Amino acid sequence: QNNKSSDSNLPDPNSGEDGEPDVADPAETSLLIKILGKGLVNTKLSLDIQQKNPNSPLHSIKTFEALHLKASLLKGIYAMGFNTPSKIQETALPTLLADPPQNMIAQSQSGTGKTAAFVLAMLSRVNIGLNHPQVLCLSPTYELAIQTGEVAARMGQFCPDIKLRFAVRGEEVDRSKKIEEHILIGTPGKLLDWGLKFRLFDMKKITVFVLDEADVMIATQGHHDQCIRIHKLMREEESLDNIKQYYVKCKNEDNKYNAIQNIYGCISIGQAIIFCHLDQKQLALFSHCMTRSTRGRMVKTSAYGVSRCGFGLSETRRTAAWLAAKMTSDGHSVAVLSGDLTVEQRLAVLDRFRSGLEKVLITTNVLSRGIDIEQVTIVVNFDLPVDVRGNADCETYLHRIGRTGRFGKSGIAINLITDEKSMKVCTDIEKHFKKKIEILNTDSADDIE
Ligand code: ADP
Repeated sequence: QNNKSSDSNLPDPNSGEDGEPDVADPAETSLLIKILGKGLVNTKLSLDIQQKNPNSPLHSIKTFEALHLKASLLKGIYAMGFNTPSKIQETALPTLLADPPQNMIAQSQSGTGKTAAFVLAMLSRVNIGLNHPQVLCLSPTYELAIQTGEVAARMGQFCPDIKLRFAVRGEEVDRSKKIEEHILIGTPGKLLDWGLKFRLFDMKKITVFVLDEADVMIATQGHHDQCIRIHKLMREEESLDNIKQYYVKCKNEDNKYNAIQNIYGCISIGQAIIFCHLDQKQLALFSHCMTRSTRGRMVKTSAYGVSRCGFGLSETRRTAAWLAAKMTSDGHSVAVLSGDLTVEQRLAVLDRFRSGLEKVLITTNVLSRGIDIEQVTIVVNFDLPVDVRGNADCETYLHRIGRTGRFGKSGIAINLITDEKSMKVCTDIEKHFKKKIEILNTDSADDIE
């Protein structure tokens, strides 16, 4: 039943390449368990025996009827040979099908019926009257996506109006047409391409979001960021409405630091994030400089320690480490979030910052999209976000500065400008959002307050 190559409509696993990161071992293992493992049971007989045992994770007292599912879906479930819900299904389905909808994290052993549970929720939430994607299911690998799609196809076999599409490597889309299928199952990179890069469907219209194998996903560096990005895109629109935006003219990089010092000295701010730009080379040097013991912790790196590792002065000045070192030596408690940290280290840095242990978080472009810390009151663009051509990257600017209406918090954004080029980027951002970015004189305490 798990032979996934039998359906000729399925994409060819060997064709195309969508740039997904290498398959993580845990994902492979998970798939293997699904394919080779017994699933709920080997035989009908053992299922019945196990379900009667109250200590078994498959034990169940409820019926599928009790869930008030659509008749066509119930028919699909019975056609798959399911008689009674498994424990995780019995526990999760009432929540998954509840109105108003609720969020849920569910965990149980492999083969206990999780996939069947969330697929049922996905199918039962589709509004066939609307011809656009409403359900997004992210899988860590091609194979798992196909596997899940097959379950959906079988469970929905009596619901011919529900349309499903795979967003995996090898699947091509007509970029001139919007996607009309109700359910999209795929890998994060491909779904980001379709939803964000090509705008083939509207992320805001997604009502069901499934993160399958969530533990595997967040442990996979590339997927981690992509999943957060997708999730963010589905939330309320970020806006600059409650944000006061300023720019500060600085003569040079050193002057930028003075600006930060002045800002910090004058306002009793809660927490701040400083974004600075590091290219790959600088990141590599930076990571080389940080000793193991300081990684992921409060940074005590001295400026001397950094330059000793081979930075030229000008390069040094453009690094997060340089800034962190300077601020630390001035008595600020500073955390650094850089691309070289492992997922665990990054989460640890963010946790410490969230809990207020550090008041300043210095971070790089690469990571800006993953950060979501609502209590931050001040955001400093040490370097303005630009794309590869050096033009204003308005989307990243909004992700750094913008807030969702739901939280309604106000904040301050400060952009440090050193030359005509960065001034132009700032003006372009201002024009794009049609929101004034005022000049701020950081030498004047009155101005800052
Ligand atoms: P998981 O996602 O937790 O690994 P699955 O949903 O893939 O588990 O279920 C494992 C196997 O058990 C699959 O073959 C599935 O068809 C079967 N299964 C799931 N729920 C039931 C049920 N209520 N009754 C009988 N078989 C089921």
